[in-house]
Amino acid sequence: YPRVRETLHKIRPYVPGRPATDVMREFGLSDVVKLASNENPFGSSSRAREAVFEAAQEMHRYPDGATQSLRAAIARHLTLQPDQVLVSNGSDEMIKMVSETFLQPGDEVVAPFPSFAQYGFGANVMGATMVNVPLTPSFFYDVDTLLARITERTKIVYLCSPNNPTGTWLTHKQAESYMARVPDHVLTVFDEAYVEYVDAEDPLDTLPWIREGKAVLSLRTFSKMYGLAGLRLGYALGNPGILSFIEKVREPFNANALAQCAAEAALSDTAFVEMVRRKTKEGRRQIEAGVKALGYHTVPSQGNFTLVYTGNGRETFERLQRLGVIVRAGFPGLDAYIRVSIGTFEENERFLQALKTLS
Ligand code: PMP
Repeated sequence: YPRVRETLHKIRPYVPGRPATDVMREFGLSDVVKLASNENPFGSSSRAREAVFEAAQEMHRYPDGATQSLRAAIARHLTLQPDQVLVSNGSDEMIKMVSETFLQPGDEVVAPFPSFAQYGFGANVMGATMVNVPLTPSFFYDVDTLLARITERTKIVYLCSPNNPTGTWLTHKQAESYMARVPDHVLTVFDEAYVEYVDAEDPLDTLPWIREGKAVLSLRTFSKMYGLAGLRLGYALGNPGILSFIEKVREPFNANALAQCAAEAALSDTAFVEMVRRKTKEGRRQIEAGVKALGYHTVPSQGNFTLVYTGNGRETFERLQRLGVIVRAGFPGLDAYIRVSIGTFEENERFLQALKTLS
């Protein structure tokens, strides 16, 4: 076959959390708990499922390529205008589209480390250079260090909060200090995939900057709090001028019809969101306390997951897997940790029991 693009040699395909069925087969287990992909263990809104059923009756038709109804609903929900919202096939696709819109060889992308792998993927696909800026030893942001790494070549700075996979976050004060000093030639992409879970003091609020039309995007998703990971629906909030350029690389029907209807219905189900928020917080406390009782420690988290220090993440991962509990390990820079998604009360207990067996 013909030679592939030079830049692709640097790229390793993304490795997702293992499906539970794989693990059941390999280890002959009848029941496996998957706490590996930061999914919503409480399912999805029944309104969303009803909307999918209804939309399926019309699935021989193309979806609304302009996602008008959903963009209007998101805009109403966040007190924005519909032209400040752009919809994607999961926020993964938005990261790729943003990369395609802004990056070319020679450009630099600044991101915290450790953080979400897709920023590097987007940069590498476009032949741009990734500049990883370490978080502090306790995995929080150091805004001065980040700003110091911005050069004339920097096109994009990613700020992920709560940050995956650490769970740590940016305070609003830190973000304000960053915004006051970031040079005009930089696009700042706040990845807020877990924003709905945040209950920190001084929470990051990017919406005023979106309303002012700053060079800022906020990426959000229906995969986490809204429980629609399998349908793939993400969106960006931003300056309509910036979004109109991302439009140019967008596929005409990137958001499918079922996902659009489900997302709009899910947005209206505030009771479901409240339930998930409360139970996730309780589950996080349950895991933090349980882990502590076993002599391990967790990293403070505002997401639906937490890092657990075990000394050797891969080994812990392997041993838990044999016991039917799938977590995640092997994040660059986090060899000593596993990342555990918060599950239901029973799933969390099962994880803690398995961890106890190991110690
Ligand atoms: N950003 C962050 C920080 C994430 O953790 C994830 C999901 N793992 C995504 C983006 C992508 O989410 P999705 O494509 O499902 O919307």
